[in-house]
Amino acid sequence: MRIGIIGAGQLGQMLGEAAHELGHECLFLDPSENPPASTVGEVIRAGFDDEAALAEIAERTDVITYEFENVPVDALRKIVDRIDVFPPLDALEQAQDRLKEKRLFEALDIPLPAFRPVDSVEDLERAAAEIGLPLVVKTRRFGYDGKGQFVLRSVDDCSKAVEQLGGRGLIAEAWVPFEFEVSVIGARSRDGDIAVWPLTENQHDNGILSISRAPLADTSLEDRAGSYVRRMLEELEYVGVLALELFVADDQLLANEFAPRVHNSGHWTIEGAETSQFANHILAITGARPASTGAVGHAGMLNLIGEIPPAARQLDMPDATLHDYGKSPRPGRKLGHITVVTDSAASRDEMLEGIV
Ligand code: AMP
Repeated sequence: MRIGIIGAGQLGQMLGEAAHELGHECLFLDPSENPPASTVGEVIRAGFDDEAALAEIAERTDVITYEFENVPVDALRKIVDRIDVFPPLDALEQAQDRLKEKRLFEALDIPLPAFRPVDSVEDLERAAAEIGLPLVVKTRRFGYDGKGQFVLRSVDDCSKAVEQLGGRGLIAEAWVPFEFEVSVIGARSRDGDIAVWPLTENQHDNGILSISRAPLADTSLEDRAGSYVRRMLEELEYVGVLALELFVADDQLLANEFAPRVHNSGHWTIEGAETSQFANHILAITGARPASTGAVGHAGMLNLIGEIPPAARQLDMPDATLHDYGKSPRPGRKLGHITVVTDSAASRDEMLEGIV
């Protein structure tokens, strides 16, 4: 099949590689010059809301997907009567708005931190009185990697927080003193078959994912997290891969957010699982069943942010794989990652420490 992919970053690149292995071809849409996915397919260079470019990609492909969640939904709605777009746009729309996203978690009985919508300083003061401090104040839309957030520790800072985040269109949520963060990634086919990968533990640095490890030593959370992601996949009549991020606090799992796409915390599945998130996304959107998601060892994934250290290029370890996205270095930019897969959690952690 010919698969149209909106966005040609590293996620598009890895989707493209998986698609090739499965015998498909990819056509991308992206405004940037020489994006990572240009190594795996033609890129139509245009804005994500460019109607002529969207019409072209719809004309030249059999199914369309996307690799990041800030795709303009209205632009994609104009092509859904012509071509299948997966994951469904309703899922994308809810993921783009933290308030809708949290209401979805509530409706599905997925536990989450207390929250309130905030459109004024008074709203935030009321939220602080009702929920208590600290609160994390976030923009409802277009926040990522911890951007667009303010940790409110004193009611005196309410106006500062609201002002700094743009005045309205915010939410305030309870600050969670979590022990660690996890993500659960699942895939659902057009026929409703679901596969879920082992739970992944995630470590962030300055709001950006730094290290993921899977599977968790303690598997007691896995069933619960799996049931949450299954509920979401079913409710949304989802097709493709979805990632749900959660906090672990006091043996409780609290939902933070979901991504309607392949996810950075699932990169370990390329080497560390029987089927990668990228392959299963392609299988799902092309009408096949997702294949086995079992772990093949103990995997660790380390993001290379801002630079790829020369030592990373000279890694001489049979159990480590470097993925270089081919991007030019810039502070805070994800340039690549290294995955290690070993036969024990201890040796995996030792290897990760040796690389860091
Ligand atoms: P987000 O953009 O919502 O994924 O937030 C980025 C990171 O900020 C998360 O991965 C957490 O480490 C931290 N964070 C976000 N919300 C909260 C919260 N309610 N309590 C504690 N930490 C949070």
